[in-house]
Amino acid sequence: MIEFTDVVKCYEQGNKALNGVTMQIDDGEFCFLVGPSGSGKSTIIKLITGELRPTSGTVKVNGYALERIRKREVPLLRRTVGVVFQDFRLIPNMTVYDNVAFAMRVIGAREREIRDRVPYVLELVGLENKANRHPGEMSGGEQQRLAIARALVNNPSTIIADEPTGNLDPARSFEIMALLQEINNLGTTVLVVTHEKNLVELFAKRVIAIDDGYVVSDGRER
Ligand code: ADP
Repeated sequence: MIEFTDVVKCYEQGNKALNGVTMQIDDGEFCFLVGPSGSGKSTIIKLITGELRPTSGTVKVNGYALERIRKREVPLLRRTVGVVFQDFRLIPNMTVYDNVAFAMRVIGAREREIRDRVPYVLELVGLENKANRHPGEMSGGEQQRLAIARALVNNPSTIIADEPTGNLDPARSFEIMALLQEINNLGTTVLVVTHEKNLVELFAKRVIAIDDGYVVSDGRER
């Protein structure tokens, strides 16, 4: 569960990015986070992943209190939250398989677990036949699916996708959203940050809208 209570975030230069955000996303929900550029979306993501701390207010994520989390607990928190970054952050000289396996290796998974789990997530995202490719040999949509596979491989309870359809055509964008919905149907909480009004309308899920550091609406589209 993600719970923000009266969260204010000021950056060092005095920029106030969040002005008192209160919201709750329950386990198993699928939720869009929308808002214009500069409204505070990235700040919210960074507060959820423990990259930033709130100036005031409380942030609870999957049992961790982020306003007072210990440094050594941050990696444990991050295992519960898979992030799909806007720029994918794939490793170009590793194969598709190894890009995903690497995420398991860094947390010390055994090779046997890796051999079981990686093919499963590659199949889930439809890349089972591309395991030996390199990211540079794949389309934007395929790279996006690889980034999703990597975010999922350590079985997080929550997935955050930052503008997952930013560089994709409408058909590919629809496929990516459908994939995220399928992942949600398997029980993972999904938070999608997006600008794409059409997709948000099409999927008719909960939409949290922020503007200027405030939640300006929270409900279902249509
Ligand atoms: P969004 O992701 O919706 O575009 P951000 O969370 O990145 O919005 O930014 C919210 C506000 O905080 C903006 O006014 C932005 O200029 C400011 N901001 C973001 N990051 C920093 C930073 N590292 N230092 C100072 N101000 C920042």
